[in-house]
Amino acid sequence: MIRWNFRLAFSLLEMLAVISLLGVLIAIILPRVSTSHDAAKAGASHVDQGDIEIQVELWIQNTGSMPAGDLSDIGADINYFPEGLPTCPVDGTQYTIDTQTGLVIGHNH
Ligand SMILES: [Zn+2]
Repeated sequence: MIRWNFRLAFSLLEMLAVISLLGVLIAIILPRVSTSHDAAKAGASHVDQGDIEIQVELWIQNTGSMPAGDLSDIGADINYFPEGLPTCPVDGTQYTIDTQTGLVIGHNH
């Protein structure tokens, strides 16, 4: 009877040890996964911004004028954005440009 209780208590301790070990592992792994996910989104936002600024340059060369600040004209033109205007993968907002410089405003992720 004493042996059985000892064995049961030991099993519970083992289980608790395993559970807390899993908790520690999850606490270590999860932030790394979400950090690399955030870095990937920021990288995608940089690619979007580069694409937009190149297409804005082309638009200026072809039309002799600056596209709208909210990109409503160039964004609707499939010659410039065949898949439509991208939205920022980090904050989900629309890209806008400075109509003086043709550069994307904000999104310094
Ligand atoms: Zn953004």
